[in-house]
Amino acid sequence: DGTDVPRLVVDRVTVRFAGLTALDAASFTVEPGSVHALIGPNGAGKSTCFNVLSGVYRATSGSVRLGGHELTALPSHRTAALGLARTFQNIVLTRGTVADNLMIGRHLHTRAGYLASALRLPAAVREQRVHRERAREIAEFTGIGAHFDHPVGLLSYGDRKRVELARALCAEPKVLLLDEPVAGMNATERLAMARTIAEVRRALGVSVLIVEHDMGLIMRIADQVTVLDFGRRIAGGTPDEVRRDPAVVRAYLGA
Ligand code: ADP
Ligand code: MG
Repeated sequence: DGTDVPRLVVDRVTVRFAGLTALDAASFTVEPGSVHALIGPNGAGKSTCFNVLSGVYRATSGSVRLGGHELTALPSHRTAALGLARTFQNIVLTRGTVADNLMIGRHLHTRAGYLASALRLPAAVREQRVHRERAREIAEFTGIGAHFDHPVGLLSYGDRKRVELARALCAEPKVLLLDEPVAGMNATERLAMARTIAEVRRALGVSVLIVEHDMGLIMRIADQVTVLDFGRRIAGGTPDEVRRDPAVVRAYLGA
């Protein structure tokens, strides 16, 4: 219910690639149970930031902390175990059914080893059944319950984006990172997804860090906004504060 959701602190994080600074001493804090948006023009460093948080990239300097844990040098499976789950800007689903994909999300919480599962030992079978039930609940919650046993390849684009969200939720995260969750969706799908994200936060109490270009959606669901431009944090505050900030207007209009 979110009572044990820790604060996520991004502290002067710099990421340099050969000849390019993708993130330049960027700092912001995601408060427990809040929806925090990370916005900025293309190439601003948003996905790089997600990759640092989830352990895909390593920061050149600076630190990332989740509650009392230092995440800075941890690989993805460790940041996941500490409660960070993410979706990707481009859909990354495996073949098979929705259920198959969600069970991958449950993997983190599976105790019986692969061999025990493969041999269908009773304890492993029981455990699988419990996980499948939880996966089904999450599928219902995210609006894809009717597709639970359908191959993901047959789903609409919007529903596949929902499978990504559901799979991330299957890890029972404390902080959910969503990279452009409504990109490519039509207006109806966008509105429905915005409701689902707001509901995830409300019902599960998790923190949500969201990268999104749809300013209407940001204005509707974000508590706080951090604006990046060329890897630097150029503004931060409530959606209303940020919208009126001259630096933000300049970054977006390129003036
Ligand atoms: P955003 O998600 O805000 O559009 P990115 O974080 O994807 O921006 O990219 C920020 C900058 O870092 C861009 O100039 C991009 O080309 C560069 N970049 C991202 N990932 C890599 C990488 N693995 N190697 C080299 N440059 C990268
Ligand atoms: Mg990106």
